[in-house]
Amino acid sequence: MELESGPTSINVESVRRFMSCNGWREYLCVGCGKVFFSKQTLKPYARVCGWHKCDKGEYPFRTYSKRKKMLTLKQINEKITEYFRLKGFGTGTPMNIANFEGRTDLVVAGVQMFDDIIHRNQEIRDNKVFVAQPCVRTQFQQLVDSREGTSTSFVNVCTEKMGAEFSEHLQSLDHWCTVLSGLGLHMNDFVIVMRTSLNDWGTGKFSALELFLSYGGLELGDAAYLLIPQTNRPAIAISDIGFGLERIAWAINKTDSYFDTLMPLTAMGAREMFDLCRTVALLVLCGVQAANKGPGLQFRRFAKLLSEKYYGTDLDSILAYYFDYWAQFIKPSINRDGAVQLVRLEVERFINLKVCEALNLPPPRNETTEAYLDRLVYTCNINIYELRKAIQTCKT
Ligand SMILES: [Zn+2]
Repeated sequence: MELESGPTSINVESVRRFMSCNGWREYLCVGCGKVFFSKQTLKPYARVCGWHKCDKGEYPFRTYSKRKKMLTLKQINEKITEYFRLKGFGTGTPMNIANFEGRTDLVVAGVQMFDDIIHRNQEIRDNKVFVAQPCVRTQFQQLVDSREGTSTSFVNVCTEKMGAEFSEHLQSLDHWCTVLSGLGLHMNDFVIVMRTSLNDWGTGKFSALELFLSYGGLELGDAAYLLIPQTNRPAIAISDIGFGLERIAWAINKTDSYFDTLMPLTAMGAREMFDLCRTVALLVLCGVQAANKGPGLQFRRFAKLLSEKYYGTDLDSILAYYFDYWAQFIKPSINRDGAVQLVRLEVERFINLKVCEALNLPPPRNETTEAYLDRLVYTCNINIYELRKAIQTCKT
């Protein structure tokens, strides 16, 4: 592995010392060649880092012995929050999902709490905080159905410290190992992969030293030490350690599918549909409105997929379920019924437009498909059966 000279290589040595002191052995992955650490003595052929391209991507953790009683996501979050509170971390308030400061329209990670400092030269805040930050990563949308462990929205539970020394960063990592062990995820079943990556968040290139924590084949999160370049002041060091709360819950409960904890227990249906509902529920809860750019465009894209593939399913009750889910983390800026209605209007807007186009009808207003068809049938005297047939063809 090639590593740069300078601060990063010093930090790599610190990592090696830290890992070795804590009983981890260092290996090279036979698949990708990256350095990784394990507490076990691995046979040469078994030296794989756990990344899905290096092992078979089978999530062997599901076969590990299970807890007697499953834990809810809420219970897990409370245990982690309480642990960090006792260790002197402030509890941060999560950001609204719509992001106007950084490089993305939507918040993709907890570290974006520093976007105002990084991008607008605000004063450095150097208190250490823990935050449970809802995030959206739209790039994985097409993989939701086919790849386990994937969702477009999740809660990034993370500790953040601006101006951290590298030793503080390792101390925070040690806290995470303790809290995960306390939740029943034993360090013996982890591998930690070390990687340096080159990034640019808009203020110049920088390299980051990252440690990825995988539990029995499932990547739970990573610890990154960043040095963000600044134009008018020295680069800012950030310790950014974040995990997917839903993934932690899956690792703890060891259900067959990741989605077993992400959808209502009574529900059946396509994962993709539940995932789309989860994400749009988060967007509307945060006050995002449909638009042709920015966060509103993301909402529109997701609503369009729902209309094309899942119109006719009872989305309202599923949306209400996810509204309550996100309300555990972010204070809603709209009430539940209002949020569900907003999604419904946007989903059905696409149906209305297609019906209108197919039969060359008077244009829809901002109304549900039921209201539009009601108007067409009883006021404009359009044939019910032709309308129903047109709706069928709206689905792709
Ligand atoms: Zn590998």
